[in-house]
Amino acid sequence: MAFEGLTTRLQNVFGKLKGRGKVSEDDVNEAMREVRLALLEADVNFKVVKDFIAKVKERATGQEVEKSFTPAMVIIDIVNKELTELMGGTQEKLAKASKPPTVILMAGLQGAGKTTLTGKLAKLLQSQNHKPLLVAGDIYRPAAIKQLEVLGGQIGAPVFALGDKVSPVEIARQGVQQAKEQGNDYVLIDTAGRLQIDEQLMQEIKDIHAAVKPDEVLLVVDAMTGQEAVNVAKSFHEQLALTGVVLTKLDGDTRGGAALSVKAVTGCPIKFASTGEKIDQLEAFHPDRMASRILGMGDMLSLIEKAQENMDQEKAAEMERKMRTAEFTFDDFLEQMEQVRKLGPLDQLLDMLPGMNKVKNNPNFKIDEKQIARTEAIAKSMTKAEKRKPDIINYSRRKRIAAGSGTTLADVNRLLRQFEDMKKMMKQFSGMMGPKGPKGGMK
Ligand code: GDP
Repeated sequence: MAFEGLTTRLQNVFGKLKGRGKVSEDDVNEAMREVRLALLEADVNFKVVKDFIAKVKERATGQEVEKSFTPAMVIIDIVNKELTELMGGTQEKLAKASKPPTVILMAGLQGAGKTTLTGKLAKLLQSQNHKPLLVAGDIYRPAAIKQLEVLGGQIGAPVFALGDKVSPVEIARQGVQQAKEQGNDYVLIDTAGRLQIDEQLMQEIKDIHAAVKPDEVLLVVDAMTGQEAVNVAKSFHEQLALTGVVLTKLDGDTRGGAALSVKAVTGCPIKFASTGEKIDQLEAFHPDRMASRILGMGDMLSLIEKAQENMDQEKAAEMERKMRTAEFTFDDFLEQMEQVRKLGPLDQLLDMLPGMNKVKNNPNFKIDEKQIARTEAIAKSMTKAEKRKPDIINYSRRKRIAAGSGTTLADVNRLLRQFEDMKKMMKQFSGMMGPKGPKGGMK
């Protein structure tokens, strides 16, 4: 995930401050010098860094810090607030037309992820009960129309295409018309990418803009390209009034500079962040949550939202009841693993937990997807009765399960032990939860 280097460096700076009872002006200056270097190294625009440091310093050298018993916390809080401001302050929602359909135009360089985003955004809108229409306006890249049709098919959204012989302006116009006729409340227009800012193609997208008067012009930029992404955003914004930016490829090892500079340089809010190639790897961009993630303080809110979007509510309630009453079986365990899988790759989920950055940087820590697969295989090799009552799993059953799952006896023993520990922990938790918990329900 992006920002790992920045997070580590900032945590080191604050770690040093935390070790002190009192913080002098020199300490603050020294810390700010290091924050400045960390930001520059993360590829944040130098002017943005300069302004940022000036603002933080101004607030930090005030009374607040010197009077505080926890000066480091005050500074972290100031940095957190300024980072949030830098990325736009509050979350900017997608525009909505007063009269449907809302027309959204995608712009950006080739390969930035426009077509993919068109599919992702359509899926997100569908999950909010909207009916988007996708319009295939990129007639130059040979596979773009097909790619959009495949994406539309995957999510069950209609795609409007007229092949590659009709002008994109006409395609966009007719697409919007079709949406009106067929009752689609959102129109997402994919457009041709540019290898670089190119006069002719820029004119074309301006013509599309004039023809359909979009409510939203989203610039899709590849966060991996760092400062270049910010330059691209700047020149697009000068030519085409953008209403929002979408950062893609934030899952890669980008240093994060683009996310931190683009709002300050262009004035255009970041509305979404794309974090992978899969169709559901798109998040609304919340500046406050991103700042918190950058500072290694996690992002529990996004994690909870992800869980709510992806988990079956009834199943979740049932699971919670079982945990409370410690009735948890291996079937539930498998079920739960599957639900968690749906949330996305584990290392991305871990990034949302507070302090996980430090754990992940520990050389002894690694997420072993193979280990998870082994665990699943073991649980699946159990009989129904064994899953329900693991107590009956004796030595010969353990040997059979190991052979059946292609693991070793030691692996099976370990999992059974972990499962027992987990149940004990659940009992302890439920013991703390009052009369509705274990006392009523435990067997
Ligand atoms: P377009 O030319 O702007 O339409 O770009 P595409 O949508 O075809 O995307 C270009 C490539 O980037 C494809 O291989 C996508 O799968 C990939 N891609 C798009 N968004 C992301 C993302 O958020 N993360 C990663 N890792 N890859 C992405």
